[in-house]
Amino acid sequence: MCAISHLLPSLLNHSNGELMAYEITEDCISCGMCADECPSDAIKQDGILYRIDQELCTECGTCEETCPRKTVVKTEREAS
Ligand code: SF4
Ligand code: SF4
Repeated sequence: MCAISHLLPSLLNHSNGELMAYEITEDCISCGMCADECPSDAIKQDGILYRIDQELCTECGTCEETCPRKTVVKTEREAS
């Protein structure tokens, strides 16, 4: 794997000015499966839920595929 890919932030700047990022919703049951499978070690437990560190996430999508509850979602938000 290209070493620089680990440095890329998860926020993708799209031509329409929107930013995209994977996020974990409050329906997370804290099973930890996504954290175990994340190749970038970007998912950590934060209280009773798990959170994605947007600085480490490389948008690979593994967590979205792994989550048994489908509580990892790709969100769009406006660029500031
Ligand atoms: S998209 Fe990939 S790198 Fe980002 S949190 Fe999920 S598994 Fe980790
Ligand atoms: S795999 Fe899904 S339910 Fe399990 S900790 Fe990750 S986000 Fe939460």
